[in-house]
Amino acid sequence: MRAIFVILLVAFSISAVNVILDPGHGGTDPGATGPSYTEKQAVLDVAFFAKSYLESAGVTVGMTRSTDITLSLADRTTIANSGGWDRFMSIHENAFNTAVQGTETFCHPSGSSNSFDLRNKVQPELIWAHGYNDRGTKTADFYVLRNTTMPAILGEGTFIDYTAEWDESWRYLTNWNDHSGRQGFAYAKGFCIHAGITPPTYGEPPPVSDSIIVDDADPEFTIGGAWSIGSYAGGWEGGYHWCSPTGEKWARWTPNLPEAGEYSVYMWWLAGANRCDSVFIRIFGVNNDSMFVSQKGTGSEWHYLGNYDFHAGTSGYVSLGDRTAVNGTAVIADAVLWIHNGPLDVAENAPRPQAFNISAYPNPFNGNCRLQIDDLGLGIEAIEIYDVSARRVACLGSSTGSGHRSAQQPDGTVGEGPRAFPLDGISENGSAQGRSPTTCEFLWTPNDDLPSGVYLVRATAGGNKGLQPLVQTKRVVYLK
Ligand SMILES: [Zn+2]
Repeated sequence: MRAIFVILLVAFSISAVNVILDPGHGGTDPGATGPSYTEKQAVLDVAFFAKSYLESAGVTVGMTRSTDITLSLADRTTIANSGGWDRFMSIHENAFNTAVQGTETFCHPSGSSNSFDLRNKVQPELIWAHGYNDRGTKTADFYVLRNTTMPAILGEGTFIDYTAEWDESWRYLTNWNDHSGRQGFAYAKGFCIHAGITPPTYGEPPPVSDSIIVDDADPEFTIGGAWSIGSYAGGWEGGYHWCSPTGEKWARWTPNLPEAGEYSVYMWWLAGANRCDSVFIRIFGVNNDSMFVSQKGTGSEWHYLGNYDFHAGTSGYVSLGDRTAVNGTAVIADAVLWIHNGPLDVAENAPRPQAFNISAYPNPFNGNCRLQIDDLGLGIEAIEIYDVSARRVACLGSSTGSGHRSAQQPDGTVGEGPRAFPLDGISENGSAQGRSPTTCEFLWTPNDDLPSGVYLVRATAGGNKGLQPLVQTKRVVYLK
């Protein structure tokens, strides 16, 4: 009898659990900073998304701060401990040396088993949110973990100072609805799994009308590597592509969008027990983002990937790679759906990065020079090359926006220059950890009469989006 009573009590207390969210920093303390956004801003965005997803699942939610105010660590634990909260989730973004990216979640080393369980449930969801490197579940003697009286965790979703290949803070600024939204959802889902509550769903099922669908039977669908065509019931309009992953295959859906704007993006796949649970997805629109999706659970329905801005036409796309898939599991590439929501969500007046990166790799053996430019999603307008007397010796044309672009090569042919992937044109798996989705590659092949020497590369970006153009120059040594 006593045992039964205890079990009932535990079951009741778990289902009645509520949570206080602690967006880190605030006020005079910005936390970690990137060129475009600060940690105190990002974690507040994330917390609001988490709150709304948690409340939609019936959870009562508090916040240590809901505005940009200064709070000491003691203020935070006092608010939490005096409020009768069952769980404490402190939300942070990381920073190190601008070159490290990944996700980690902490609890206190002497925390309760519920602390460890909550931590272990939240971390995989945070990994899902962005597809970044799994830095692991960890313990640390952080003040807010040590001094809270309830099970507590602290999440470090991403490194907001990361700029080595893309500006992570720019993603928080311009993709806040999805970049912060997916992270907020991750906290909510992890918490619900921990608490035994049915988690909310990410996004809503789409209406069928007013949508643009690219199916794997359409010419707008392209693949790399060896795929098979499947015919089990449940594919979108019949068949679907599937592969056993090797880390080299990719699939791409490139819609011809009638107008620029914000679109809700959904993907359809056929579920099954042998499906890959970490399929790497990238969205190439006005800005870019990446994520993992699991194809294991429910299938044969539209799965929401988020709201993203796209240019009109065919400059944007959704791609899927099998980079992280485990051999022996199946990856499905079937259909992607775009629903137009309204005008571009990009804040035209938003502060932008002050600089983008140009790397040059002269290749004397091939008589060319490879230029790698991370335009941070702004869109390269032109790349001009000048000699030391300021004479323009080459112009490498323009591109229309971020994502998949083609470059006008000096000889007039359109090349596959600006891509986020290796130049082999095969791999779609330039990873979230690897090359940035906003990195473009251009090949400069100087005319034969140009001598070896110092040249100036001048790249212009952003003007073709109606923004004040950003110009960057870099010195290059060209060796014949
Ligand atoms: Zn922090």
